Amino acid sequence: MIDLRSDTVTTPTDGMRKAMARAEVGDDVYGEDPTVNRLQDMAAALLGKRAALFVPSGTMANQLAIRSQTQPGQEVIVESKSHIVRYEQGAAGALAGVQLHWVTGDHGIMTAEQVEAAIRPKDPYSIPTALICLENTHNAGGGTIYPLSTIEKIRTIAVRHGIPMHLDGARLFNAVAATTLPPTSYAQYFETVSICLSKGLGAPVGSLLISSDQQVIDRARRFRRMYGGAMRQAGILAAAGIYALEYHVARLKDDHDHAKKLARLLQQIPSVQIAPQHVETNIVIFEVIDQRRSPAELVAALKEQGVLINAIGGRSFRAVTHLNVSAKQIDEAGAIFTRVLAR
Ligand SMILES: *Cc1c(COP(=O)(O)O)cnc(C)c1O
Repeated sequence: MIDLRSDTVTTPTDGMRKAMARAEVGDDVYGEDPTVNRLQDMAAALLGKRAALFVPSGTMANQLAIRSQTQPGQEVIVESKSHIVRYEQGAAGALAGVQLHWVTGDHGIMTAEQVEAAIRPKDPYSIPTALICLENTHNAGGGTIYPLSTIEKIRTIAVRHGIPMHLDGARLFNAVAATTLPPTSYAQYFETVSICLSKGLGAPVGSLLISSDQQVIDRARRFRRMYGGAMRQAGILAAAGIYALEYHVARLKDDHDHAKKLARLLQQIPSVQIAPQHVETNIVIFEVIDQRRSPAELVAALKEQGVLINAIGGRSFRAVTHLNVSAKQIDEAGAIFTRVLAR
């Protein structure tokens, strides 16, 4: 089966499993797991920040960023198709007590003008804007890379208004691999950054919240405990993360090449609508015009032939390339798409 549903379906490689088996561990609630500490230091250094916190999921990393930098009754600016809006079960409202202010971007990318217009005036009746969140690369936008110049403009506005910025960098390293910019060039504009080790980087579990402000990380550590995310001998998981950061960043470029190839193959199919120029990293979003078969039926027909993808609403589908999909499998997937969708 060629599984293109998500880059979360990757399984640990033999090298990663060996690193996990060898990991030195301790009780991380006491701050005594040497492997967790090493991963946190490594991630902070990679992004040019002071401190980092290892957490079970990207959702928790984002939510700790929000909880640690806002007060209940404040507002957070987010893009309307962002992970924080769509896929975190309303946690910002339920757990942090904040209101989300949605801005609809172009393929997930907000302009500085849009962000500025969304900032509330400082008067006695307006809700205070406490945080601005960007997502890079943007998942539902199609793996879109935030242009550095746009981030810089948004930053200028945020600084002028005294509002901190959080980056949902679940796939930040895809942006890094695609642009060859160092991670610090993105991270420098944000008070906090979250990264996922369990997406294209191929670790089984884990994310990090990274910050230039030790006090934010200290607060996040308390809230991590509150949210049930404080783990004990988590070094076994952290070892997979260290291995991923050492060995799986450079190879993300292969996933991008595969996604672009897949987009070109899909473009040849008459019933498929796709804009290959919008495939910037490892996510391919396309539409299928089929009068006879529903999206669920198309997914089932592809599965029967050996390809798994997700229907993402309307006539849209998402295919994601990753560590466990080879170049040969992309060709095979292209042939299966042609056979099933051209019928
Ligand atoms: C996957 C993802 C997350 C975190 O997801 P978890 O499943 O909670 O690890 C956060 N943001 C984006 C953009 C993602 O794609």
